[in-house]
Amino acid sequence: MKLCSACLLGIECRYDGKSSFNEKIVELAKREILIPVCPEQLGGLPTPREPVELRNGRAITKSGKDVTDYLERGARQVLKLAELFGIKEAIMKQGSPSCGCGKIYDGSFSGRLIEGDGITTALLMKNGVRVTAVEEL
Ligand code: SF4
Repeated sequence: MKLCSACLLGIECRYDGKSSFNEKIVELAKREILIPVCPEQLGGLPTPREPVELRNGRAITKSGKDVTDYLERGARQVLKLAELFGIKEAIMKQGSPSCGCGKIYDGSFSGRLIEGDGITTALLMKNGVRVTAVEEL
């Protein structure tokens, strides 16, 4: 059993109300149990919502609102699910300030990626969950 960013399975939970449907993940879901999670929805943000990027460790919307508390709350809910089901692996979406794994946007909303992890990914890794970016499968 693995956790997986819900948008990869076609769930329309992204900031723009769309999904990040990923064929590989949908195929994988036919063979393995994947638990879909969207930390930003679980943290209480609406869909659609303003895009968010990490800047100096804070989660900031494009218009400058600090939504770090929402993303941290979502990360804690995802960790709770991992612990509840004894899940030790997750497949997450690169770039996201929550799910990003290895690469995240640089906080300037210019589309530039830098090295780093999203808030949920970092919390999962800190607690012994192996996180893989879907782009690296
Ligand atoms: S927070 Fe994660 S699951 Fe939710 S839309 Fe962003 S990348 Fe997908």
